[in-house]
Amino acid sequence: MTGQGSRKGRPLGWFGRLACVAVVGALAVAAVAIYRADSAPVPKAEPDKWSPPQFAARQSERDAMVRTIRRYGLSDKAVLKAMAAVPRHEFVPAGRSRMAYADTPLPIGHGQTISQPYMVAEMTRLLKLTSKSKVLEIGTGSGYQAAVLTQFTKHVYSVEIIKPLADAAAARLKRLGYTPATVRHADGYHGWKEEAPFDAIIVTCATGRIPPPLIKQLKPGGRMVIPLGAPFAVQSLMLVEKGKDGKVRSRSLMAVQFVPLTRQKKSE
Ligand code: SAH
Repeated sequence: MTGQGSRKGRPLGWFGRLACVAVVGALAVAAVAIYRADSAPVPKAEPDKWSPPQFAARQSERDAMVRTIRRYGLSDKAVLKAMAAVPRHEFVPAGRSRMAYADTPLPIGHGQTISQPYMVAEMTRLLKLTSKSKVLEIGTGSGYQAAVLTQFTKHVYSVEIIKPLADAAAARLKRLGYTPATVRHADGYHGWKEEAPFDAIIVTCATGRIPPPLIKQLKPGGRMVIPLGAPFAVQSLMLVEKGKDGKVRSRSLMAVQFVPLTRQKKSE
């Protein structure tokens, strides 16, 4: 004998073989169903026919998170629906997965954080997006906010200054099926000139003053939300509106705390 071992029993008859094929087939169908239900998006459509992927896993936790957001007084149905749809657990590091649906920011590495779900919801609401809006995000981080934005519009551009975060977010968004979100590794201070102007700009890192290029890249009639203030202090969430006449008005909405907008492009 070589290392094969001996097989006992008779060879299978045609009935046995048929039964085997049926069992293997059923197992394959079940495996695909479980895979689908657990993590995979529904099949991807062509880009212009794109519809948001759906995820069944941890839906009850997402629903509980949405109830928490409602308790803050946020009742915008489209925003709540978007928050109920995007699987936040796919955007947090594996070690933080258990906390994925708590209403709190979580570390995502490189000293950065994924924002608190309520803050994501409220900033999204303030943008008043439609399916035609072209939106720019500064601070991709995990890509979660970008995924939420794709629930409203297919025109989502997001800039991240830390290369490993930009690369990971781009790969994650693609894997999950959020293909309308385009991520770029760059200093978002400069906005995204080639794609400007934007109907909406969302800045998810805090800065002492509004970067002038962002004001320039906002369309007349456009809206920007941006945390203003010193790094690691309590900042003010500002809503900046550019009138049809080009006049810019801004007002402070609430106290917030975001990681700082940095200016050095980092590649590691
Ligand atoms: N929106 C993110 C959370 C962002 S945390 C999410 O949904 O996960 C803020 C992010 O802004 C960090 O990833 C940080 O690296 C990035 N950032 C800081 N300064 C930046 C700049 N000048 N340009 C682009 N991104 C910047």
